[in-house]
Amino acid sequence: MGSRSGKVLSPKPRLGSVARSVVACGIALSCWAFGAVRGAALENTRPAPLLRVPSASVSAGLPWAGRLVHAVPLRMSHVLRPVTAEYTRSGNFYGTAELVAMLERTAQLIAGRWPGAQLAVGELSGPRGGKIKGHRSHRSGRDVDVAFFMHDADGRAAHMHDFVTFRRDGSAQRKQQTLYFDDAKNWAMVASMLRDPDARVQLIFVAKRIRARLLLEGRRQGASDELLRAAAAVMVQPRRGHKHGNHFHVRIYCSPDDRPRCRDRAPFWPWYEGSSSVRRVAELPALQWNAAPVAAPVQVGDGVQGPSSTVALSTIE
Ligand SMILES: [Zn+2]
Repeated sequence: MGSRSGKVLSPKPRLGSVARSVVACGIALSCWAFGAVRGAALENTRPAPLLRVPSASVSAGLPWAGRLVHAVPLRMSHVLRPVTAEYTRSGNFYGTAELVAMLERTAQLIAGRWPGAQLAVGELSGPRGGKIKGHRSHRSGRDVDVAFFMHDADGRAAHMHDFVTFRRDGSAQRKQQTLYFDDAKNWAMVASMLRDPDARVQLIFVAKRIRARLLLEGRRQGASDELLRAAAAVMVQPRRGHKHGNHFHVRIYCSPDDRPRCRDRAPFWPWYEGSSSVRRVAELPALQWNAAPVAAPVQVGDGVQGPSSTVALSTIE
């Protein structure tokens, strides 16, 4: 997994996170990726930073007007599968090394906790990026659609070959079968991505009713306030178009080594690792259990507190 994505993965953590980071920085000589310096919001919940070696893949441009160079294919396995046969035929399962590795790590983590669980993915990008049918974004290797985990009335995992729309009460009707949104696994997926040691999640498009369920589940599982606030920030229902009541659409920020060819647009959460000249969100919004994301104060330039304004959320999925 590590070699294919062109990354050197750190061994299983044994030291304290600060000690590990210092060792990693010492070896790498360059500490641009030191998580404690940038993006401290998930410092206590994110695993130790990897010894980050620039990957060969490059996400060029914007997610809705970009392309992908030296793409990394997402390999399907017993823990990771395409949602539909149609997606399998299209073969748009290419991403940056960072996105692909994040998906693989997440799938492994969930299967490790729930043996037999499979992360079901929709499309990523084409082998060279650019426009693909059915999506406005997904052009630069940093977007992925992911199916919800679900189970049947007996609690058995349901492996559907389609995206399934869930109601507010967490149920869905499929032919003669009632399916249930798997709060525990879906929250684990969100948490795993937010805590990824390498990729930095910018947005997870998902319907408000699903977002509310997931935040409650996170709280039920005892997630830290920091992680819950990060999840509350990234999970948004697009203002226009598809409400995402049947799947997640996950977007990650440009990898530091892909800049400046790779371009990000707001929102810039505290863990954003790019230019300090952007209007970065200084603090995550307070937790809102049943509401859409709230307006958050923004930070202008290098630490100058600007006037409150809404975070400009890109709704291009
Ligand atoms: Zn999508």
